[in-house]
Amino acid sequence: MTTIGVDFDVPLHAYSRGWADGTIYDEPTPGGFDALRQLMADHAVFVFTARDTYQTALWLKGHGFDVQLDAAGSDGIWPKFWNTRDRILVTDRKLPAVAYIDDRGIRWTSWPQALADLETSLLLFDRDEQLRALRAAQDPFISSEQYLQALHDARRCAELERELEAAKFEIRHLRAGESDQPAPEGVAPTPEQWIHWWNRATPDERTTMVNQIFASAATAATCFEMNHRWSLERLDRLTNALRILDQVPSIAARAMFITEAHENLGLGASFETVLAYAAARVILTETTPSASAPSESSR
Ligand SMILES: [Mg+2]
Repeated sequence: MTTIGVDFDVPLHAYSRGWADGTIYDEPTPGGFDALRQLMADHAVFVFTARDTYQTALWLKGHGFDVQLDAAGSDGIWPKFWNTRDRILVTDRKLPAVAYIDDRGIRWTSWPQALADLETSLLLFDRDEQLRALRAAQDPFISSEQYLQALHDARRCAELERELEAAKFEIRHLRAGESDQPAPEGVAPTPEQWIHWWNRATPDERTTMVNQIFASAATAATCFEMNHRWSLERLDRLTNALRILDQVPSIAARAMFITEAHENLGLGASFETVLAYAAARVILTETTPSASAPSESSR
């Protein structure tokens, strides 16, 4: 057995003039009783209301329903559940149910969604109240059709307002970080000025700019790679020369090789060339018996 809770005002009682003086004054909502009977065929149903439950029960009874007024039992304890089919419990308490049918309910799936839906509901509530007041004041000059049309328009209007708010939020998000101060002629724009320009550029301008960025990135990557490769090669050459010179046991002898290289190459030679020359001389001295290491006597 499942239990369903049904709100009284609007789903069952047409409520066309709102709360009014608190008495039940209106006709049944079109289709409300058929739906109620349909629910009662499969579920235990209670009707919940902020109105006087006795008046509400009388109204439903007057329309042919078997009703029971929510009340404490002879033991003074209020029932915690409603599980009776074919009879409606009328209550102002929130009893357990698998679902509540209510024109003012907000379905909760997450707080951001529930709060956003509440915003819309509040807008709708204001408009519904205004329309009811209008109808109460001008009745019978506004037909039901006109009223329903106006209500529909008001709901559409609330939806559009919500969409507009979402769009404004998107635009604010998109324009975050912009600066609307234009960059002076010939001066590169700051990132903030650049974002400002980008957000207003035509599709063609954007495509052109992206192509330029891609081309620049490709050039930059090539420059980096070339320079990187050259530096690595140079480092390799220096490391090799130093490793060879390191094999010369005495510091004084190493200094001699370097001095000799300097003297032969001249002062304009690069450090790399001097080391390479000195290393070559070390190898020659070690592998060729006739070649001799530079020394004080050979100068
Ligand atoms: Mg209601």
